[in-house]
Amino acid sequence: MHELGIAQAVIDLAQSQLNGRPPSALRAIGLRLGEVSGVEKDSLSFCFECLVKDTEIERVQLKIELCPLRYRCLDCGREIAGGEWQAKCPSCGATSLAGEGGDELELAYLELEAT
Ligand SMILES: [Zn+2]
Repeated sequence: MHELGIAQAVIDLAQSQLNGRPPSALRAIGLRLGEVSGVEKDSLSFCFECLVKDTEIERVQLKIELCPLRYRCLDCGREIAGGEWQAKCPSCGATSLAGEGGDELELAYLELEAT
C-alpha cells in the first residue's frame, strides 16, 4: 500500500514549508494528482487521515485536485483532453500527439491560519 508512504511524504513536505510557523497553523494541503499517477485518491485521503489523527495537525484537510491525462498536438498546438488515446488531432488531423500531464503528484499549495 504505497499510498501510506506518499501521504507521509506529503505531510513531511508540507511541514518543511512552514517557514517557522507552528504545524497547528496549517489548515489545508492542496495536492495535484494525475489520473494516471497510479495513486488512488480515496486511498491517499484515507491514509492521510490515519496519519494526522491524534497529532497536532489532525484538523488539516487534504484537498486533492485530480489532473486528467491530456495530449497536445505537435502540429497545431491544440490541447486534447480525455483519458482515451486518439490517433489523430481533431483540429488538423495530424498524428503527432504528445502526452502531457496526467501523472502529476505534487504539492500545489498550503493553507495557513491567518496571523
Ligand atoms: Zn492539430
